[in-house]
Amino acid sequence: KDSQAKYKRILLKLSGEALMGDGDFGIDPKVLDNMALVVGQLVGIGVQVGLVIGGGNIYRGAALSEAGLDRVTGDHMGMLATVMNGLAMRDALERSNISSHVMSAIPMSGVVEHYDRRKAMRYLSMGDVVIFSAGTGNPFFTTDSAACLRGIEIDADVVVKATKVDGVYTDDPVKNPDAVKFDRLSFDEVLERKLGVMDLTAICLCDEHNMPIRVLDMNKPGALLNAVTGGNEGTIIER
Ligand code: UDP
Repeated sequence: KDSQAKYKRILLKLSGEALMGDGDFGIDPKVLDNMALVVGQLVGIGVQVGLVIGGGNIYRGAALSEAGLDRVTGDHMGMLATVMNGLAMRDALERSNISSHVMSAIPMSGVVEHYDRRKAMRYLSMGDVVIFSAGTGNPFFTTDSAACLRGIEIDADVVVKATKVDGVYTDDPVKNPDAVKFDRLSFDEVLERKLGVMDLTAICLCDEHNMPIRVLDMNKPGALLNAVTGGNEGTIIER
């Protein structure tokens, strides 16, 4: 496909919470369909899309641990939650005629493929969407770290974090009306200002491997398309 895009291959990170829509648990099929539409637009202009979806709409290890569960068990449950989200996302993509695959960092024979980098890269080269689920496969990590890790592994041009906010602000823009948005940040600035964009593991990994991160608003129509075609959308974090 002839590509109008600035980026040839991206790793898109969606939080699990984004899948809830207006609910407070689980998956809203309407939200999924909308995401499939947006991803389909990218695929349509020739962008290769790897997806990492969080699990916060179902379980988070830290929250389960606060409630009394063993932390590692909680993290395992959180990772399994991301597999469920991945299956739901694949379903929505396939219903939109977008060929897609779910890979899991934790082997789950008969349900999803086990993560295989070379196979994933082949799928991406064919224009198929690959959903990387079960995070990194290890407890004490987040899906933000998984997104950065997979993004680097598959040699993506950028990691896009699609959230509820249209970029990185000096303070929480929901709570503080004086918060100012950054157009560009260095990794050092993110660390120095302790900006809660992604956890430190994720930021350090991207810094070390020179992987830019773009933060944008998932619900802003056209934002993702604008970003991949070179628009100055949200905030870019780069060296
Ligand atoms: N998780 C983990 N290792 C990973 C990725 C995720 O143990 O490499 C667990 C962790 O418990 C986390 C949960 O899976 O809380 C869901 O992921 P996350 O909180 O990143 O989801 P999001 O906030 O993006 O919805």
